[in-house]
Amino acid sequence: MIEPTSEMHREALLRMVPLSEVFNSVQGEGTRIGQLCTFIRIQGCNMDPPCSWCDTAYAQPQSPHGIGVTVGSLLTTQVYNILHRVVLTGGEPLSHVGTHSLLYALSMAGHIITVETNATIFDREAARHTSLVSLSPKLPSSGHEPVMRVIRAWMEVADTWCQVQIKMCVDGYSLDDLDMVAHVLECTKDHAHKNVPIILQPVSRTHSEFQMDSPVVHSLNLRNLLKAVEARFGNVNRDIRVLPQLHKILWGNKRGI
Ligand code: SF4
Repeated sequence: MIEPTSEMHREALLRMVPLSEVFNSVQGEGTRIGQLCTFIRIQGCNMDPPCSWCDTAYAQPQSPHGIGVTVGSLLTTQVYNILHRVVLTGGEPLSHVGTHSLLYALSMAGHIITVETNATIFDREAARHTSLVSLSPKLPSSGHEPVMRVIRAWMEVADTWCQVQIKMCVDGYSLDDLDMVAHVLECTKDHAHKNVPIILQPVSRTHSEFQMDSPVVHSLNLRNLLKAVEARFGNVNRDIRVLPQLHKILWGNKRGI
């Protein structure tokens, strides 16, 4: 662990980050579901093309919505009421150099940090300042495939440097998605003894379903996913959890909630 110096601190506070939005809400996904947090959404993502069901198109690199801010202004301005628990999300937060400075400054200020990443980048520096790294490997229904080398690297440091969870959006009707979940389980089995929950959550299956994304549709997809997971993974000795996205039940597919 590098001891922080006032020089490091000053440099971190001056670093720019591309910011999409900041808002306070409930964590709607994963093991920390229900916790009140400040979400800091970093602008830009390294997925090209974007995932087919991406619900943060406004955080894509080509979107004009992002603004550059310094870490210092983000943390100290009265505009944002940064809560004790912070979720750094995107876009893809680990694809920006400024993210390290933001994580450093947040951790020095005593915040409990979750980083949500698409699991295409392994980042030791980020792990050092993060309480929970939430990996979201992308399955075939997204138009992408998981990067197993990166997932294994995160599994190596799980429980030592930070907590890790693997959270996948699954189309419960898609054999390709379910096969890929099986592949992720197989590729991470050497670390099965670690405390790494595998969280599966339903994904909207069509564009119109995605646009509606009503609680009813979400519940139906959740029910179907539960059945598919029971049939396919019911006897697998891993911590597999099928969970809803709480914010979608509460508010549907809306921005900044
Ligand atoms: S990784 Fe996340 S932010 Fe990037 S395109 Fe996919 S869903 Fe959207």
